[in-house]
Amino acid sequence: MPTITDIESTLESLHDRYRPLNTGAVATYIPELTKADPDLFCIAVRFVDGSGFTIGDTDARFTLQSCSKPLILAQALSTVGRDMVMRLTGVEPTGNSFSSMVGLDQIGKPLNPMVNAGAIVTASLLPGDSAEDRYKRMRANLSAYLGSEAELDTAVYESELRTSDRNRALAYLLKSKGTIEGDVKQHLDLYIRQCAISVNTQQLANAAATLANNGINPVSNERAVSVEYIKDILVVMLMNGMYNYAGRWAYEVGIPAKSGVSGSIFGVVPGVMGIAVYSPRLDEYGNSTRGLAVFSDLSKRYNMHIFDQRDPK
Ligand code: GLU
Repeated sequence: MPTITDIESTLESLHDRYRPLNTGAVATYIPELTKADPDLFCIAVRFVDGSGFTIGDTDARFTLQSCSKPLILAQALSTVGRDMVMRLTGVEPTGNSFSSMVGLDQIGKPLNPMVNAGAIVTASLLPGDSAEDRYKRMRANLSAYLGSEAELDTAVYESELRTSDRNRALAYLLKSKGTIEGDVKQHLDLYIRQCAISVNTQQLANAAATLANNGINPVSNERAVSVEYIKDILVVMLMNGMYNYAGRWAYEVGIPAKSGVSGSIFGVVPGVMGIAVYSPRLDEYGNSTRGLAVFSDLSKRYNMHIFDQRDPK
C-alpha cells in the first residue's frame, strides 16, 4: 500500500497522464448538470491517519448524486436496523439501469439500495419529526462524513425537482406496494436533497476515508456510522456501486466504490484510505471516464483489489 509520500508523486503523474482523456459526455438528463465544465479534473486521497493530498481542480464543486446512496444506506441501517433494510430492499445486482422500473411491480421491492428505487426506500427510512427535522439530521450526518458542513446546491436541487417524474413514479409504485410508508412527496424531496449536496473532491475522499476508518472521520475524529454497519455498506458498494459496470469493476479494480452522474467516484481501501476522483465526462455506463482510469491504475499499481494476495507464499 502507498504512503502519503509516494502517493503524491503517483497522483501527479496520473493527473498528467489522464488529463488528455476526453472521451465520454457530461450528464444531461438533469438540466443543471449540463452546465458542468467537462474539463474539470481532480483527484483526492485521505489516509486513515488523517493525512491527505489533492491534485487538479481542488476548488471544483459538484453534487453528490448517487455517491450519497451508501451514506444514506448507513443512516437507514442505523435507524431501523439490518433486518428491516433487507426486508425492504436487498443486495442483488439488478442488471438494469439505475432508474429502471423493470421487475418492481412483480417483486414489490428494489433489488438494492444503490439504484434509485432502493435509495428512495432508504431515504424514506430517515428519522425525524418533520420534513425540516429529517433534512437537518440527514445533513448533519453527511457533514460528519465530509468533515465540514454539507451544503445544498439549490440550483441542482430545483432542477432535479422539476424533472424527476421517473423517480416520482418509482416512489408512488413503491408506496402502492407498501414498501414505502408515509408522505411520499417528503421522502422524494429528501432523496433529491441528498443528491444535491454540494462537495469538493477532498470532502468526498474524507467520506470514503470515514468508511475505511471503521466509521470515524480521520480528520475530525467524529463518528459518522457505527462500525457494525461498515461491512454491509462496503459489500453493497462493491456489488452495486458502479452501475452496470459493477461486475467488471469488481473483477478488475476490486475497490468498494460508488459513482454518481455528476462525474464523481469515491472508493474505500479498508483500513488504509479513501480515494475520490471528479471529472464530469461519463462513459456509456454512467461512470466518469477519467475516474475509471485513475482507479484502475491505482488498484493495479498498489495491489488495492480486496482479493489481491498481499503476502504470497
Ligand atoms: N439524482 C440522480 C437521480 O436520481 C442520481 C443518479 C446517479 O447519480 O446515479 O437520477
